[in-house]
Amino acid sequence: MGLLSGRKTVYVDSDVLVIGGGMAGCGATYEARYWGRDLNIVCVEKANIERSGAVAQGLYAINCYMGMQWDENQPEDHVRYARNDLMGLVREDLGYDIARHVDSSVHKFEEWGLPIMKDPETGRYMREGKWQIMIHGESYKPIVAEAARKAATKVYNRIMVTHLLMDKTKANRVAGAVGFNVRTGDFYVFRAPAVIVAAGGASHIYKPRAVGEGMGRTWYAPWSSASAYALPILAGAKMTQMENRIVLTRFKDGYGPVGAYFLHLKTYTQNAYGDEYESNWYENTKELVGDYIDRHPVPTCLRNHAILEEVKAGRGPIRMVTKEAFQDPHKETIGWENFLGMTIGQAVVWASQNIDPKHTNPELTTSEPYVMGSHATCSGAWASGPEDYAPSEYQWGYNRMMTVDGLFGAGDTIGGTAHKFSSGSFAEGRIAAKAAVNYVKDLGKERPQVNEAEYQNLKKVVFQPMENYEVGRNEIVAGTVSPSYLLPLHGLQRLEKIMDEYVGGISSHYMTNEPLLTRGLELLGMLKEDLDHLGAEDLHQLQRAWELQHRVLASESVTHHTMFRKETRWPGYYYRGDHMKLDDKDWHCFTLSQYDRESDEWTMEKAPVYHIVD
Ligand SMILES: Cc1cc2nc3c(=O)[nH]c(=O)nc-3n(C[C@H](O)[C@H](O)[C@H](O)COP(=O)(O)OP(=O)(O)OC[C@H]3O[C@@H](n4cnc5c(N)ncnc54)[C@H](O)[C@@H]3O)c2cc1C
Repeated sequence: MGLLSGRKTVYVDSDVLVIGGGMAGCGATYEARYWGRDLNIVCVEKANIERSGAVAQGLYAINCYMGMQWDENQPEDHVRYARNDLMGLVREDLGYDIARHVDSSVHKFEEWGLPIMKDPETGRYMREGKWQIMIHGESYKPIVAEAARKAATKVYNRIMVTHLLMDKTKANRVAGAVGFNVRTGDFYVFRAPAVIVAAGGASHIYKPRAVGEGMGRTWYAPWSSASAYALPILAGAKMTQMENRIVLTRFKDGYGPVGAYFLHLKTYTQNAYGDEYESNWYENTKELVGDYIDRHPVPTCLRNHAILEEVKAGRGPIRMVTKEAFQDPHKETIGWENFLGMTIGQAVVWASQNIDPKHTNPELTTSEPYVMGSHATCSGAWASGPEDYAPSEYQWGYNRMMTVDGLFGAGDTIGGTAHKFSSGSFAEGRIAAKAAVNYVKDLGKERPQVNEAEYQNLKKVVFQPMENYEVGRNEIVAGTVSPSYLLPLHGLQRLEKIMDEYVGGISSHYMTNEPLLTRGLELLGMLKEDLDHLGAEDLHQLQRAWELQHRVLASESVTHHTMFRKETRWPGYYYRGDHMKLDDKDWHCFTLSQYDRESDEWTMEKAPVYHIVD
């Protein structure tokens, strides 16, 4: 207890606790103040909300904007679009709810100072595609963070939340959370009747293409560490569509985005021999998924599928034809600026590899899989829907409340709602916060009670990796390998290898099957046992240790879901070799899981998909 006895415990009471100050968390914090003028609103963030989350570097486009003021699109149109892209399976009630509210959030961003490009002829926001509008977005996150900072009673930066706390007076009700300050090492106990988890998605659960010294270069932010899933999973919340992990086609080695290239610069792809290839795979894809291949736009996963098949047929690499568009100086500028606002690294990679897109068509590749709820994918927590729109089966409480009382979510955290992106995540945070404030008000004077024994025990558990290191390092003669502890980096690499080889990562061309998944689960079980022996040299490594714990739990969930869904619903994201076809008869449904931390058992079930929009 040497290390622990000196650690300070800080207690923080609030009415609404927001975990994660990214896009959804900032939206939640802002809106909670609007509806809860006299409430105590706290936001806790493991980095600093000024530049945290997936939008930290800035963005070049807001990818979810209806344009209802100009009658450009209606919310129903967006539901149809997301449903089509996800091969039929989305929570239409949740998606509709975001779509009907997202425009007002974008208008707020502009009011707060975000420069949105305008079409000089129409005066409307400049469109990049049907849903995207273009922004000068380097300062997108600081602008949004300022609104949250002004709304919050207090923002706690540099605190990593490790566990949720449950109410000792009522089963299945949340009562707060614990975490530690990654700079001071203080232990924090947050007590709150309503908790909104907005902790982003998950990178680095699969082995990335860039390894060794390049491993920090992933498409999704390397600090997105699956807390959004692990925190609710451990509290017993149901998760949905965790098998629907996303694979992105991006510029090779820099993960530079391709959307603006396709949509705005009108570039196109071809194989190594300069040929169009997508049509070659039409019949093959139709065999797998039926008429989903005839839909417009072609679902994202199916476009990946054509690339993967063409490369497997020996006609890679696939290249983006930029040479034509870049002859136009205006388009050339746009092409480079597109990276400067969002993925500067891609411009640097091209410069370092002697690639000038005006003279060389750059290579594309498919990424390792990521787990997210806000992009062309919809993994996350199973949430109650809006009172006025959700089917009764999707309503068990307040909007965006999970299957645990008082526990809400938004953004990447919530499953079933693809294509919300930055603006939709912010809007969903606002929706969740409004409901959370109602929940707190309806509780009246009643307050959940945290269990002192529970958080005292967690204090021990949270800092255990530092204790392990302190003791175990004496056994090291040289180097970093100790007989009695596992470093977080080593654990991470082991996790990535398991997920890559057994659960459909890049090395197996995203292919898996029941025997592989079964073995994958066994190996994950062994890894979980070893996580008790993580060793953390300092507070930074302690954060890495807890990020790993969260990633492992989310990975286990992904593996169970992938095993449960006996079909290949999204070829191009992953393949079940033992069930290669889409099976609408048996699997036009959501998959749900629930983890029981006492027994370490997972329970799987199906839930119906309701098509509310025609
Ligand atoms: C490369 C890339 C390009 C993108 N391009 C676009 C685009 O062009 N247009 C667009 O609209 N959207 C784009 N997106 C999507 C957009 O960034 C996400 O949809 C959005 O950020 C999701 O919001 P979120 O709040 O769920 O997660 P985030 O914004 O990532 O926020 C999560 C927050 O939780 C914090 N956190 C995590 N774990 C913990 C913990 N345990 N304790 C405390 N805090 C924690 C994180 O530090 C972070 O601040 C892009 C994303 C990426 C990665």
